[in-house]
Amino acid sequence: MDKCSRCKTEEKPLFRLKNLNMLVCSQCFASYYEKKVKNTVLKYGMLNGVRRLALAVSGGKDSMALARALLEVFPSIKFTIIHLNLGIPNYSDECQEIVEKFCKEYSIELLLYDLKKYNGYSIYDFGNIKSKKRVCGVCGTVKRYLMNKIAYENGFDTIATGHNLDDIVEILFNLYINGSIEELVRIKPVSSSTHSKIVRKIKPLIEMTDREDLYYAISRNLNYVSSECPLVKGSRMINRKKLILKIEEEIPNFKYLLLKTHLKRFLPMLEEYVLPPTLRECEDCGMPSINTVCSFCKLSSKILKLVENN
Ligand code: SF4
Ligand SMILES: [Zn+2]
Ligand SMILES: [Zn+2]
Repeated sequence: MDKCSRCKTEEKPLFRLKNLNMLVCSQCFASYYEKKVKNTVLKYGMLNGVRRLALAVSGGKDSMALARALLEVFPSIKFTIIHLNLGIPNYSDECQEIVEKFCKEYSIELLLYDLKKYNGYSIYDFGNIKSKKRVCGVCGTVKRYLMNKIAYENGFDTIATGHNLDDIVEILFNLYINGSIEELVRIKPVSSSTHSKIVRKIKPLIEMTDREDLYYAISRNLNYVSSECPLVKGSRMINRKKLILKIEEEIPNFKYLLLKTHLKRFLPMLEEYVLPPTLRECEDCGMPSINTVCSFCKLSSKILKLVENN
């Protein structure tokens, strides 16, 4: 019988700790993952001064792993889960059910927001329309805006999201290629509030890989939505992630190196030269905006028109 390289338990070791090249059992993998999350949170001071913490949880493996790991490593820190139902048939209901069950099991307060009910359209409605805008881009704008608004209106001062190393490197890769300096300056583990209505954001999984989140979800027997979002097909984001994995086969540790170079070498310079935009309040919703009407309100009215004409 194979043994775990760490604790020598005679459980078939299924999880590889890539950096140490060790095969370990589920318990040892979970401990390794939780320790890494804890170190990341402490290293970047993510929970310093937090009074009310909210977690954006979609029901996918990453945000479920985040919620479970935080419960384990910071048991005294209370948090509320915010879940958005995006109205994607079957998929969104499955996500909501998983999040509801988790909150019930661990007695966590849950704030549910139904996009179709409150905004009159769903992400699926938009996905069904032929438009130049890509559905994942639209979905990202909607999620970012609503998460911040819900957290602000409910008095939270910090939102934790499940963005992991693979997500962040994919974003960095794209922004560096396009020279999007104003956006690059915002990619960091902790984004402070720049306006009284903008809630501080933290990314406790920024150093965890996709695979580590998956292994952790398996090792802790977590329920997470296993099917893919039906709207993701042909997404450029997925293609870029595949490309990055290929690069990592040739350049080991490429993802972590890119993140480290960005945070240590480029970000300090960018922060010095890129001034934060001047914000005003959106004429429609009152939330912070660069223009008279914010991008969410513009997008929402366009989608509603498109939906009505279809
Ligand atoms: S895959 Fe795209 S459309 Fe589906 S939930 Fe993710 S961002 Fe939204
Ligand atoms: Zn072990
Ligand atoms: Zn607005």
